[in-house]
Amino acid sequence: MEDCIFCKIVKGEIPSAKMYEDEEICIFKDVAPIAKVHLLCVPKEHFAYLSELNGAREALLGRTLGKIAKLAPALGLEEGYRLVINQGENAGQTVHHLHIHILGGEPLKWE
Ligand code: AMP
Repeated sequence: MEDCIFCKIVKGEIPSAKMYEDEEICIFKDVAPIAKVHLLCVPKEHFAYLSELNGAREALLGRTLGKIAKLAPALGLEEGYRLVINQGENAGQTVHHLHIHILGGEPLKWE
């Protein structure tokens, strides 16, 4: 997607603080953190919403969660973390490329 900011980050066309990358996902620091550790995990394939999942993308998301769990200690998340996907307007989704917020590095409020 030509105008997608996360596609541009994945391709290295705009700068980001990348923490992890492999053939199918990229993890980088959120530019406006709301927790001590605030990362974004994006699939390299562009799709916007969970409603666009198919079999291959479901498998990709499963692998992605496994990778996050394995990487967590190296990302400063050994004491726990929260994963958030904002889906659509009511959730306040602003970037229309599916992404998982990874929040932690400190005790998180739940309210
Ligand atoms: P959402 O509201 O779930 O769509 O979240 C989008 C997130 O992307 C927000 O937390 C933004 O701070 C973050 N963001 C937007 N542009 C960038 C960027 N260039 N680099 C890193 N994070 C970004």
